[in-house]
Amino acid sequence: MSASSMVMSVAETMRLLVIEDEDDLRHGLETAFREDGYAVDAAPDGAEGIYKAESWDYDAIILDVMLPQMDGWEVLQRLRKKKKTPVLMLTARDGVQDRVKGLDHGADDYLVKPFNLKELLARVRALIRRSAGAPSPVIKIDDIAINTAARTVAVGKNEIPLTAREYGLIEFLTLRRGKVVSRTELYDHLFAEEDESFSNLLDVHVCNVRKKIGKDFIQTRRGHGYVIE
Ligand code: CA
Repeated sequence: MSASSMVMSVAETMRLLVIEDEDDLRHGLETAFREDGYAVDAAPDGAEGIYKAESWDYDAIILDVMLPQMDGWEVLQRLRKKKKTPVLMLTARDGVQDRVKGLDHGADDYLVKPFNLKELLARVRALIRRSAGAPSPVIKIDDIAINTAARTVAVGKNEIPLTAREYGLIEFLTLRRGKVVSRTELYDHLFAEEDESFSNLLDVHVCNVRKKIGKDFIQTRRGHGYVIE
C-alpha cells in the first residue's frame, strides 16, 4: 500500500462495532465512540455481532467475552476464519488463562472490566494505527477490489473470472498504480522465456482484461506501456 492511500484511509471516518449484551454499557460505549468521531454499530449478542462483522469492514471490533448463547470466544473464532478485523476483547477476569486464550484465538488486545473509558479509547486508537501499518491485502480502485491474498478481482460484489496471467497483469499494474509500466517490464514479469516469440500475447491479455473489467481499466500509453490510474 502506498503512503498516500494509507493517509487516505486514516482520514476517512473509522467504523467500529461494539458487541456487548449489557444495554447500559453498550449504549455508553456507542455514545463515547461517537463523541470521539467514530461511526459506531452495535450488536447485543454474538449472532448479530458475527453477522455485522462479516457484512462490513470495520476498523476495529470491541467484543465482550461474556455474552449469552454464543460467547465472545466463539464469536472471535468464527470471525477469524473469515476476517482479520482488529478485535479488542473485554474480559471480566484478569486471569492469565483468559489472556492466553485471547491471544491464541487471535484477539489483538484486551481490557479487563471494569475499565477506564479513556483507556479503552486510547487502546482502540492504537489498535487501528497498528492495523493500518499492516496493510490489507485488498486494494480498491473505485468499485474494483484486487485481493492480493486470494488472487481475485471483484467488480462490486461480482468476482471476475480471470486466467492466472490476466490476474498477474492486473496485480503488477495495480501495485504500480499511476506509474507507466513498459511492455518489456510486463513481459519480464508475466511470461516465461518460451512465450517470448508471441509478441502479441501481452496485447491479447490486456484486451481480455478490458473486456472483463472495463475498457478504461488498463490504459495504453503509446510508445511507453500501460498504466492503471
Ligand atoms: Ca456481557
